[in-house]
Amino acid sequence: MDKKVIYLDHAATTPARKEVVEAMLPYFTEQFGNPSSVYSFAAGNKNVITDVRERIANTLGARTEEIYFTAGGSEADNWALKATAEAYGNKGKHIITTKIEHHAILHTAEYLEKQLGFEVTYLDVDENGLVRLDDLKAAIRPDTILISTMFANNEIGTIEPIKEIGAIAKEHGILFHTDAVQAYGQIPINVDECNIDMLSASGHKLNGPKGIGFLYIRRGVKIRSFVHGGAQERRRRAGTENVTGIVGLGKAVEIAFATMEERTKKEIELRDHLIERILSEIPYTRLNGARTNRLPNNVNVSFQFIEGESLLIMLDMKGICASSGSACTSGSLDPSHVLLAIGLPHEIAHGSLRLTLGDENTMEEMDYVVEQLKEIVSKLRSMSPLYEDFIKKN
Ligand SMILES: *Cc1c(COP(=O)(O)O)cnc(C)c1O
Repeated sequence: MDKKVIYLDHAATTPARKEVVEAMLPYFTEQFGNPSSVYSFAAGNKNVITDVRERIANTLGARTEEIYFTAGGSEADNWALKATAEAYGNKGKHIITTKIEHHAILHTAEYLEKQLGFEVTYLDVDENGLVRLDDLKAAIRPDTILISTMFANNEIGTIEPIKEIGAIAKEHGILFHTDAVQAYGQIPINVDECNIDMLSASGHKLNGPKGIGFLYIRRGVKIRSFVHGGAQERRRRAGTENVTGIVGLGKAVEIAFATMEERTKKEIELRDHLIERILSEIPYTRLNGARTNRLPNNVNVSFQFIEGESLLIMLDMKGICASSGSACTSGSLDPSHVLLAIGLPHEIAHGSLRLTLGDENTMEEMDYVVEQLKEIVSKLRSMSPLYEDFIKKN
């Protein structure tokens, strides 16, 4: 990457580590065989895949055969919801999720409503983005077959009370899925302690390759085949395995868990420094998301009287990659559904900035970013008629 670029968008994607790429390379060329082939030259790749499956299972306290490789987090989310709906739809047609899920969950839930006649309850969250357990309990019905709540939010970094949610699901005999794409590799997760039945994760959010992820499915959960064809992934997800991707994911997982403690300790220092300086040195600013139950690498702040899009463009001119509170992916300027769900008014949500940190970031970069932000925010405010009015009145 260009030396001058300061990358602070690790919730969007992360660079693959050098070791990850090196581990993958031989599987493109010398060891290219199809794992399903009988001859020993190729069959070794079957063992490589099993090794990665086992390594991932160990990180979660799961069994090797409970890990199913997918083409990433979105596919894992789609699979969990659609296949549960199919397999358990005769038992009931009600699903509970939250208003702050990733679109891979929200749009799949909407699909189940429109196409398969499901009813979905989208739980509100509190001002920090936390699911209220009483709301969850109140939403449960005799025909509820699935609860799906994310482990940690990708925009505001709030870590949900997953253990408590899992206990409630178990008590009512309801399946529990969690989108752990942002949490996996950042915070320890044990599927038994949290009563998780299904869990989604993605390689490129933890310094692995894009287009590879997995869905954990607890033994005994009746889930039908998601992709029909060959016998791969225990006949549930056909297609010649993405061997290179799986090897890369395995290496990324190995490093993420070996370095988790020191890495997140460093990220928390950078995060807290950034939050402290922004809030104390830039007026009319607020932090979004929980202060303590927060991902180690997430900063999300709103600047009053500012357009997030203009802020991003000016940061970009200074070599800083960040993300705003707008649904820029859809090309619209609607504020983010997450920021609205925590109760921010539209105009505050519009002035939001997400900075998500990674391994390679430094304290010097944090200070540079704060200095740039101070200048840019005051420049943008000086051009804002709303800010002018506000200052006159005060
Ligand atoms: C990135 C992300 C996804 C999608 O993962 P992909 O591998 O990009 O498909 C799903 N959920 C959350 C919370 C994410 O951050």
